[in-house]
Amino acid sequence: MDNASQWEIEQILTGDNYIYLFVQGSEAVVVDPSEAAPVLELLKGRNLRCTCVLNTHDHWDHTGGNEELKKKTGCLVVGPDQGIPAIDRIAAKDTELDEYIPGLQILPVPGHTHGSIAYHIPSARIIFTGDTLFASGCGRLMGCSADTMYGSLMRLASLPPQTRVYCGHEYTLENLRFAALMDPGNDAVRIRLKEVESLYREGKTTMPSTIGLEKETNPFLRVHSADIRNTLNMDGKSPVEVFAELRRRKDVF
Ligand SMILES: [Zn+2]
Repeated sequence: MDNASQWEIEQILTGDNYIYLFVQGSEAVVVDPSEAAPVLELLKGRNLRCTCVLNTHDHWDHTGGNEELKKKTGCLVVGPDQGIPAIDRIAAKDTELDEYIPGLQILPVPGHTHGSIAYHIPSARIIFTGDTLFASGCGRLMGCSADTMYGSLMRLASLPPQTRVYCGHEYTLENLRFAALMDPGNDAVRIRLKEVESLYREGKTTMPSTIGLEKETNPFLRVHSADIRNTLNMDGKSPVEVFAELRRRKDVF
């Protein structure tokens, strides 16, 4: 990006769904609009033009606003597959979207769904991770193997630690409570849990996180931790086996 300082992120939280606007000047790119109304209201209030919608995967709580946003703003709709409502362009690893966000990269991150992608803007040090990586958690495996999801999470974990993470849902408090049980000796988890409790009390959101913070506090990125392995009684097991067991336990937490 020519001038990396000339952008900002707007967050909209409806229920536990996050919608993000990447704003540059008078233009906005909308990420995962679960619905259109709050986006249209924000666009109007700030006098912004929506140029593009980016979807991380085909679930309705990420795409529900596509049709109306396209109809009312004429924006381009981008996503990973034909299942995306009102899709104009299918995004793969080499898809060029420079005219909407300079330097935008598509990262395939299958695991929550087969087609899940993340949107990475290296010059702004930002990634939109959809339902693959959450703050202190990860998405459910919907038809994908633990191996596939673990591979995607490791790809995300290898990004620069200062990369800001904007994920698809506000599940942070519940995720940290689970993390505190699985990783009981981890002070970083305890500290973040306190911080998030006070953010909730103040009515604030917990986004963004960072890749660095996730590596410290997200049990799904810490399957090598002796503490977690002790809790699960899985010493000597492979990282994917530990990951799969954590995911199973989180499913019923
Ligand atoms: Zn989803």
